[in-house]
Amino acid sequence: MSQTASAGMSPAEFAQARIRMVEAQLRRRGISDPLVLKAMGEVPREAFVPPGFEEFSYEDSALPIEQGQTISQPFMVALMLQAAALGRHDRVLEVGAGSGYAAAVAGHIAGQVFTIERHRALAEAARARLRALGLTNIALRHGDGTKGWPEAAPFDAILVAAAGLTIPQALKDQLAIGGRLIIPTGSEGEQLLKRITRSGEEEFQQETLAAVRFVPLVEDADSLTTVLRATAEPLPALHEPSFAQAFDRFGDRRVVLLGEASHGTSEFYRARAAITAHLIREHGFDIVAVEADWPDAAAVNSDIAHAAGARRDAAFQRFPTWMWRNVEFEGFVEELRRHNQDLPADRRVGFYGLDLYNMRGSIAAVLAYLDKTDPGAAKLARERYGCLMPWQRDPAVYGRVALSDSYRACEEEVLAQCRDLFHRQTADGPAWFDAAQNARLVASAERYYRVMYYGGAESWNLRDTHMFETLTQILEQRGAQSKAVVWAHNSHIGDARHTEMGALRGELNIGQLAREHFGDDAALIGFGTDHGTVMAATEWDGEAQVKTVRPALPQSWEAALHDSGLQRSLLDMSGRTDPALAAARLERFIGVIYRPESERLSHYADAALARQFDAYVWFDRTEAVTPLESDARAGMPDTYPFGM
Ligand code: SAH
Repeated sequence: MSQTASAGMSPAEFAQARIRMVEAQLRRRGISDPLVLKAMGEVPREAFVPPGFEEFSYEDSALPIEQGQTISQPFMVALMLQAAALGRHDRVLEVGAGSGYAAAVAGHIAGQVFTIERHRALAEAARARLRALGLTNIALRHGDGTKGWPEAAPFDAILVAAAGLTIPQALKDQLAIGGRLIIPTGSEGEQLLKRITRSGEEEFQQETLAAVRFVPLVEDADSLTTVLRATAEPLPALHEPSFAQAFDRFGDRRVVLLGEASHGTSEFYRARAAITAHLIREHGFDIVAVEADWPDAAAVNSDIAHAAGARRDAAFQRFPTWMWRNVEFEGFVEELRRHNQDLPADRRVGFYGLDLYNMRGSIAAVLAYLDKTDPGAAKLARERYGCLMPWQRDPAVYGRVALSDSYRACEEEVLAQCRDLFHRQTADGPAWFDAAQNARLVASAERYYRVMYYGGAESWNLRDTHMFETLTQILEQRGAQSKAVVWAHNSHIGDARHTEMGALRGELNIGQLAREHFGDDAALIGFGTDHGTVMAATEWDGEAQVKTVRPALPQSWEAALHDSGLQRSLLDMSGRTDPALAAARLERFIGVIYRPESERLSHYADAALARQFDAYVWFDRTEAVTPLESDARAGMPDTYPFGM
């Protein structure tokens, strides 16, 4: 041991000091296990202290080592080893290798020693020392020892050289029956050394051995990949019945909100269709409310209710037509139609639109209703809506003209019309409800287009508030037993407070309002993908194109999910507190517009996934929706749906 002798003491002097240490510090203080005393008398502690500290090697104290850690006091090492009652053939795990000293002593007694150190530099230095001393029955690794060393378990003894508040479950699990775990617990200044003995599969005895003082046992936060893999449940193929059964856990909610990460992905439509149909059949859901305009959805609703003269092909004629005029959605509507076939009117599933963009369709619907029921009121409504008529084909322009005083009156008129209709509630429930919702839509849209002119959060908030109020009014109209499935983009159904939208821009959304209103009775389920194709346009009113979805950016949730190797999965995050899931990372939002060239700026925002959603449905690769064949045709007459 020439390197230690150079510190001023000869090997013989170190050996002398070691013998004195064993006598004075150990035997006299009650260490009596001959194996422990022998091993402590053999291991050169001077080889484990930092250079310059060799002469203190056999002092009765802990000594500082690198990284702010310590090499344990000799007595403490002996006390723990004695408490562990090591036998010649035992397998031993140590957590907190530090200098490697205690592991070396244990290695002199027991058959096999495994030791873990979370500081890489310490781990490497300890490994070099153990190797230099020729201790080949000791394996050392760098990592978080609170997880134990499962591949080497079970252990006859586990020694923990650092104190945590609780006893890690993994360590108890890795004890052999009859095994002993020696571990300090408590907070700084108040720690107790404990011995936990496993006496049976589920039986553990605990004793307190001494008041002690150790460095903290640091539990490393799990890596995001580890947490994602632990959380994800693989999902069967979309056509398997068991796909939707995975969502039975949300069956008792009043509202289940299903998101989407784009407005043109086949898997998102098919998955939501399968889940929704299952919730309807098995859990009594009777409302499907989607991010579409009220009057258009009403046409679908008449059709699935088998109403005479219903024309569902007349709906969704405006950009972006592929959102609802696609093969995937068509299949779902057919399914709803079949489901309703033999049901009485009050038990049929209803299909509703929450959105407010088709102002023109709504004006037409209000007028048509009044024409039929009260021609006098229809005349007044025509006058009131007159101020909007010039703009109904291009309502965005309305925002600009509405700045002038002459249009201020418009707001009053549409509100008055809305109030009138709500006060009318007559015997013909559904038709009245439809007209009243249309009148509400016109009033909301009038305000929406007016405030949109100024930009900012207000118009977004108005729209999402309108959508949420529409949802609550539908639920109310259908009665206390009613339950709704909502389909809308992730940006509407993921709680805005936990995304950039809410945190930076003051925007709220349906998901947030649903949580505030329904609490745990609402389930917010997001959908996501890494790469594939999507149906989208390059600008508003632009042509629908199948676009390649780029692999997600490195700092995103999507990249983390992809890198974790997850394919089709459900991540149920309710009750998950892992910091890795609740931190903010980038999330991709593709709408009806997708501009891969400027992806980071146009399509990514920060979001804390586990707070934003209760669950997340993952498809690593996805494909664009298939538009309906019939959309190749020339289009509807210009006057639809006004026809006047
Ligand atoms: N047995 C050592 C004592 C070192 S002090 C010796 O004889 O010298 C305790 C060590 O535990 C420190 O080096 C610290 O870095 C390490 N440690 C703390 N938390 C840990 C964890 N979760 N996993 C592994 N090592 C840990």
